[in-house]
Amino acid sequence: MMAQPTASHFIAGAYAEDTAGDAIESVNPATGEVIARLHAATPAIIDQAVAAAKAAQPAWAAMKGVERGRILLRTAQVLRERNAELSRLETLDTGKAIQETLVADAASAADALEYFGGLAGAITGEHIDLGGDFVYTRREPLGVCAGIGAWNYPIQIAAWKSAPALACGNAFLFKPSELTPLTALKLAEAFAEAGLPAGLFNVVQGYGAVGAALATHPGIAKVSLTGSVPTGAKVLAGAAQDIKAVTMELGGKSPILVFDDADLESAIGGAMLGNFYSTGQICSNGTRVFVQRGLHDRFLDRLKARTEAIRLGDPLDPDTHLGPMVSMAQRDKVLGYIEAGKREGARLVTGGGVTELQGFENGAWIQPTVFADVTDDMTIAREEIFGPVMSVLAFDDEEEAVARANATPFGLAAGVFTADLARAHRVIARLEAGTTWINAYNLTPVEAPFGGVKQSGIGRENGHAAIEHYTHLKSVYVATGPVDSPY
Ligand code: NAD
Repeated sequence: MMAQPTASHFIAGAYAEDTAGDAIESVNPATGEVIARLHAATPAIIDQAVAAAKAAQPAWAAMKGVERGRILLRTAQVLRERNAELSRLETLDTGKAIQETLVADAASAADALEYFGGLAGAITGEHIDLGGDFVYTRREPLGVCAGIGAWNYPIQIAAWKSAPALACGNAFLFKPSELTPLTALKLAEAFAEAGLPAGLFNVVQGYGAVGAALATHPGIAKVSLTGSVPTGAKVLAGAAQDIKAVTMELGGKSPILVFDDADLESAIGGAMLGNFYSTGQICSNGTRVFVQRGLHDRFLDRLKARTEAIRLGDPLDPDTHLGPMVSMAQRDKVLGYIEAGKREGARLVTGGGVTELQGFENGAWIQPTVFADVTDDMTIAREEIFGPVMSVLAFDDEEEAVARANATPFGLAAGVFTADLARAHRVIARLEAGTTWINAYNLTPVEAPFGGVKQSGIGRENGHAAIEHYTHLKSVYVATGPVDSPY
């Protein structure tokens, strides 16, 4: 099943190609079939995209916010009309089950376009009265902004970055992950159809080297990365060369704390969503599930039963819960972590291996896996696995749980399940994380700021907060009398 795009890149409102770039093959991870062949951007393509963005940006910035917003709203409408087709393509490219992509990918991209489209006319500065003289501030765009995406939510990441950037009057350039290059091009088509002037949203394909070229390109004012911590460090170092603004959405090893008084089925549902959705490939996953001793055994019994009822299968079948991982390489990496868990003495509760599926013999399948008796020093409790592997750790009291939850260099997300709301707020306040939930997990509405602390990130996406990361504040001092100078 080929999903061949017209060409690899989208620049200045049209598809562009340079076959001198390294070959990229997009593989359907459920079958191992190549579904599209593309090329990485050459330096010439990158320069062309930056030049197109630079040329288009001033006129866009000079438009009224509501006019920019209207185009974003129209783009959202195009995505919603095409949700079925886009979800199918995202499923082929990522392997994620269609029941997920129908609600969480192009639909989430449309949410972002609607939210920031609506906000575009409300981006304002402030007036500061000085008793005669006064200062006003202007929220000005940064110029050309670049986004570098991960492979787990390709079109969502492209829209979460470009919608606020464009709403604020910037031009945008996006590099998808080399594993999932296709739907960003479809987003570019949707923008063009909605009337976005040429050059304001460009897509360049490529491996890490293209990302690195964007991070250091003198024509780019800001770079926003969704990726792993080691890549974040490299992009940050590149951006430091000319002091670019950055947003970093990086990895995590987030804790979920389940207290004895929690609603058992909700806590298990939250932990499963926080470990198995997207076949475990979510940065904010709560992969360290701390369960208080009084509930621990019942939690594990029900978790095992519910996990074993998860249906793996053809990702395009609407009844399938879980598709394969994004690639064989990622699956093998996760299997290595599962082996480490076994070797280091964790108790395998369920899963722990690959699955054979008829008709999908070459798919990157892996069983949803639960380990119990996990201790804080084990590899599976310390490192981000980025696959469907849950570690359950027992704890006795609140103080201990908070200390252990925080004993990690990551700080993306955290969740608390308890019926005691005073405790819920007290514990959430003490957890070192940027995005947190009480009696829920992994809900990420576009209205709420999303991002991490510690090594998990810098800056925030979504919510009003994103506006601050795609604008700078100019203060304008206005004198109303003669200059009072001693000279
Ligand atoms: P990755 O870091 O390998 O790659 C991310 C992107 O960076 C890709 O587009 C890649 O081509 C590019 N890249 C690689 N090397 C680069 C370099 N030296 N300079 C510039 N760009 C470079 O991550 P991945 O494997 O695609 O995604 C998984 C990781 O992303 C996990 O750690 C996950 O937690 C994280 N993630 C974070 C969020 C978030 O919002 N916080 C969301 C999704 C994924």
